[in-house]
Amino acid sequence: MHELSITESLVSAILERVDGRVQTVTLVIGRLSGLVPESVRFCFDICTQGTRLEGAALDIIELPGRARCLACDQEFELPDAIPLCACGSANLEIISGQELRIKHVEVAV
Ligand SMILES: [Zn+2]
Repeated sequence: MHELSITESLVSAILERVDGRVQTVTLVIGRLSGLVPESVRFCFDICTQGTRLEGAALDIIELPGRARCLACDQEFELPDAIPLCACGSANLEIISGQELRIKHVEVAV
């Protein structure tokens, strides 16, 4: 599973950098990242078992995909990873939606 290795690296990065018991992890996942939020949630529970992150809440903020057409210069929402503009051009610049990042980690004091 794609999500498992990505979630594993996220969890170990947080463990490496953050001291103390983690209460909440907030992630931003773009719709075009190819990651399924529910799978990430499932993998998060597995990867955090027995670590300082065990039992931490996982908040996922989903970002829609946005693209700009290089042919007609229109900017629009891209519902999936298939690049295609209404004008017929597939020459798009992806503006957002491919990201996976940690927005915030809350540590118990
Ligand atoms: Zn276009």
